[in-house]
Amino acid sequence: MNIKELTFKGSDQTVLYSCGTCGHLFSPRIYACSDADAHAAARRAADECCTPKYCACGKPIEAPWTACGSCRERLRLEKATVITDYNGPVESDKTRGEWGEGYSSDVAALIESCAEYDDPVPAYCWPCTSVPLRLDLDRILERACEEQHEDALDQIEGADELQEAIDRFNAAQTCVTYYPDHSRVIVIDQDRFDNILRGHGESHG
Ligand SMILES: [Zn+2]
Ligand SMILES: [Zn+2]
Repeated sequence: MNIKELTFKGSDQTVLYSCGTCGHLFSPRIYACSDADAHAAARRAADECCTPKYCACGKPIEAPWTACGSCRERLRLEKATVITDYNGPVESDKTRGEWGEGYSSDVAALIESCAEYDDPVPAYCWPCTSVPLRLDLDRILERACEEQHEDALDQIEGADELQEAIDRFNAAQTCVTYYPDHSRVIVIDQDRFDNILRGHGESHG
C-alpha cells in the first residue's frame, strides 16, 4: 500500500523495504535470485504485508490462505470422487464422532454420535484409509547404524533371524490408525452437499 524504502546513511541505494502500515521490514537478501528480482520480491512482500487479501468469491481471507474456508471446502469436494459402496470408518471435522476427533466406525455411527452430542449431521464425510502398526527392519537397522561408521550397515549379522521375528511380531499386531481419504467423499445429505458445491456453503469459522 505505502512502502517505505530504507537506505544506509550517505547512500541512495535501497537495502530494505518496510510496510508503511505496520513497519515490518522485508529484506531482498532472503531471496535466492538476481538482485533486481530480489528487490522486486521484497518490495512486493512489503506492499502485500498489511493489504487485505480477498478470495475469488469476494470474502476477506487471512494469510497464508489463497481462498476462504467455504471455497477451500468446495474446491476439495469438487476434486473428490463421490462413493456409495463404502462400509468402514469415516471422518468429519464438523462433529466429534463416535471415536472422538471426528472419527466414527461407519456412517450410521457418525449420525448416531451427532444426536448424542446435539451436533447437526454433516452433509458429507470422508472414508478412511488404514495404517496398521508395523515394524520395518531396514528402518530399524538404518537407525541403529546412524551413530556407527559408514560401513556398519554391511557388517550386520543375524538380520535374517531378526526379519523372521519381526514378521511374527507384525502378524500379531491388531493396532490400526485411520486417516481421512480426501480423494473420495460420502454424501450424507444430497441437498446440503449440492449447496456447498454451488458455493452457498454452510457456515465456517
Ligand atoms: Zn504490515
Ligand atoms: Zn471464497
